[in-house]
Amino acid sequence: MTSFLDQKMKPAQFHKAVLTWYDQHGRKDLPWQKAITPYRVWVSEIMLQQTQVSTVIPYFERFMQRFPDVQTLAAAPSDDVLHLWTGLGYYARARNLHKAAQKVVAEYSGIFPLGPEALIDLPGIGRSTAGAISSISQDIRAPILDGNVKRVLSRFLAIDGWAGERAVAEKLWLAAETFTPKKRVRDYTQVMMDLGATLCTRSKPRCGECPINKHCLAYKTEEQSRYPGRKPKKATPVRQTWMLLLENNDGELLLEQRPPSGLWGGLWCPPEARDSDDIHNVLETIGLVGTQTQTLAPFRHTFSHFHLDITPIYIQVSPATASACAGQIAEQPSRRWVQHQKPGRLGLAAPVKKLLGQLQERLSTNLAIS
Ligand code: SF4
Repeated sequence: MTSFLDQKMKPAQFHKAVLTWYDQHGRKDLPWQKAITPYRVWVSEIMLQQTQVSTVIPYFERFMQRFPDVQTLAAAPSDDVLHLWTGLGYYARARNLHKAAQKVVAEYSGIFPLGPEALIDLPGIGRSTAGAISSISQDIRAPILDGNVKRVLSRFLAIDGWAGERAVAEKLWLAAETFTPKKRVRDYTQVMMDLGATLCTRSKPRCGECPINKHCLAYKTEEQSRYPGRKPKKATPVRQTWMLLLENNDGELLLEQRPPSGLWGGLWCPPEARDSDDIHNVLETIGLVGTQTQTLAPFRHTFSHFHLDITPIYIQVSPATASACAGQIAEQPSRRWVQHQKPGRLGLAAPVKKLLGQLQERLSTNLAIS
């Protein structure tokens, strides 16, 4: 019986071909490829999940400036960490990064544990990320299987099916392990990511330039688009929320910090109402009354597993009772009045950042909200 690994191109030839290509064309000057440490590789790998290199570079540089080592990151307030993540999305990554840094400092004296089995024990580090940190920064032979590598291997070996299914994932991991060399593991890991990102792209792969094209099964049968198999489609659910842009008499907006876990955990957002009837209840709970209200243009924010339809409601507010004042509301640690043009060092969800920008634009162009 033939196996999907009965490829004419043997691992040794495969390494030689891809590493020769790497020497000539591979990316060697990305910021995290300089002064390599497990810390820098780890941060870059977490940022690169679901995110393109060009987007990550400025975030990585700002992050390293503020948190040059794991000790600084571990000691930082979570608002500072989330603030530097604002706009990158998938905020659980930042929260786990922070937790993992604290664990490295508390349990490993600030030195990353060696090898994928130990690294996988840290929050937010999966098997592929552990493999990347080990191979790139610890010179340990460890396979990786990120989205790029999945694409290259599933096409090269014609591995059918969606990688979210256990049997398919097992085949891909076996392939990744089989093809990972004993030497030059850092360059090999890098070249596999580079091949997927630059030649073996999702659409229009540049197979003519690919160093393994002679033996690539998908190229041979012109079935590149068949691999990797896609996740079976389900209708994406739609949720609704009303975001209340509450402005006080000093022109400040009220933000609330969300609970540490769950959607946008730990980030700062305007108070939300379930629907238009709920707005009054929300204001009452906070101790405010609305004097002027305007519904702004609704928009959709899409998460990986649902759409969120956001209706922004601008409300000019004042304290509900003569004895209450905005300052009393701000005293609560989870609520803060902020300048919308300068919200300070707070972690903001991307749509909130967009909303504050829009509001500022409206005010500065004198399209007064009335
Ligand atoms: S030949 Fe084409 S499909 Fe095959 S690995 Fe190379 S770029 Fe990908």
